[in-house]
Amino acid sequence: MNTRLIAPIALSLVLASPAAAQLGPGPCEDACTLDQVADWALDNDRIAWDFVEAITTEVGPRQAGTEAEERARAWAVEWLEEQGFSNIAVEPFDMETWVPGESHRVEILSPFPQPMVVQPLGNSASTGDKGIEAEVVGFESVGALMAAPNGSLKGKIAYISHDMRPTQDGSGYGFAGPARWIGPGIAAGKGAVATVIKSVGTDFRRNPHTGGTSFPDRTTPIPAGALSLPDAANLERIFERADGKPVRMKLVLTPRMIGTTQSGNVVADITGSDPSLPPVLLACHLDSWWNAPGAFDDGAGCGIIAAAALNVAKAGQPLRTVRLLIAGAEEVGLWGSKAYAEAHADDPIAVGIESDFGADRIWRFESNFRDSNPDLHRQLAQSVARFGVADSGIVASGGADLNIAREQGSAIIDLQQDGTRYFDLHHTPDDTLDKIDPEQLRQNVAVWTQVVGILANTAGPLKRSE
Ligand code: ZN
Ligand code: ZN
Repeated sequence: MNTRLIAPIALSLVLASPAAAQLGPGPCEDACTLDQVADWALDNDRIAWDFVEAITTEVGPRQAGTEAEERARAWAVEWLEEQGFSNIAVEPFDMETWVPGESHRVEILSPFPQPMVVQPLGNSASTGDKGIEAEVVGFESVGALMAAPNGSLKGKIAYISHDMRPTQDGSGYGFAGPARWIGPGIAAGKGAVATVIKSVGTDFRRNPHTGGTSFPDRTTPIPAGALSLPDAANLERIFERADGKPVRMKLVLTPRMIGTTQSGNVVADITGSDPSLPPVLLACHLDSWWNAPGAFDDGAGCGIIAAAALNVAKAGQPLRTVRLLIAGAEEVGLWGSKAYAEAHADDPIAVGIESDFGADRIWRFESNFRDSNPDLHRQLAQSVARFGVADSGIVASGGADLNIAREQGSAIIDLQQDGTRYFDLHHTPDDTLDKIDPEQLRQNVAVWTQVVGILANTAGPLKRSE
């Protein structure tokens, strides 16, 4: 029997936090320390895996603003209730919704006719069912595309390449990403009728990587798709062997905007004992692209934050409330992040942390208060050193769903995960449960448990004024 349930203090804990009633087999016989719970989580946590296994199985792909994302919200509410979270709520918001459509085809017409594999990018326009046939002009980078004279792409399809390589810190995405984020908009401005990009990814499977693109104001969106990396390499060889002859392409993409629909953020709390203290906000996102069940992106992240919050309660009711923000509609333009920041502009948070970079091990600790609160920074960094996490002087800027933390100027922590294989899977049909290594997932939970537990039990301001 768990003797904690007899003590009066534990009784109030049970009343205040239903999570405590659901603890199941605990990490220790008597009252646990936070360190004990984190160490236990490293070898025993099942919650994060349960979340990602169940959502990828029972919900699957969950494109923002669609019926699938609505099912995911209902599913998440039920799961959070089963785990014993408090104050579970859906905070709905309206969004303009894009759907991928049914037909995604590309072929080289000349000089070397052959089919390739393509997927539309988020916000892409449609070619119509009959598709577009045009000469395709290659650019080795967004920079080269920018240098092309205005009007020089009139009537043509622009192909944009890049040279992305896997990196532990994921920084290759920052260099290659503009090919997708802004390339199609730039090509449209120069008169292109469509764009295909080399997938922003690092694998050599025949799986295009989708993801959002955006078009500047006053630029009419054009069809925009991603070629798989092997097909992009093939197209580049075709350019070389075409020997100056035009390369002609047929592209069929039929996405469409379906107007205003509803999305929503799902929130849930582990209630703290001192309601006057601002909460610790843990974020992830619920939506995925239509083409994948989103195990790495971001089922794992939601599992990690939920597990950490529940584990913190295993060491006793925290001082501060630990709040989950399971954001909607991140992939297609941070709709949930913006909606949460707006709705809660007057609710200060103590600190924001997000998990949205897969399920591989955490290797580096970053905060934005190393200078203003060096003692807390050092305490946190030191507390996770035993899990193989390095300290860093990099200033944390927070994940996509932490607009509220950035707008409030609050404390932010980034628990950097190993991104070496993240962009092999990112936004592809390969982002499936089998890619998750349970041992590395548990290391994430242990590190998060430790860090969130310290933050939730620290009373003073976390980021002091500088
Ligand atoms: Zn994500
Ligand atoms: Zn994503």
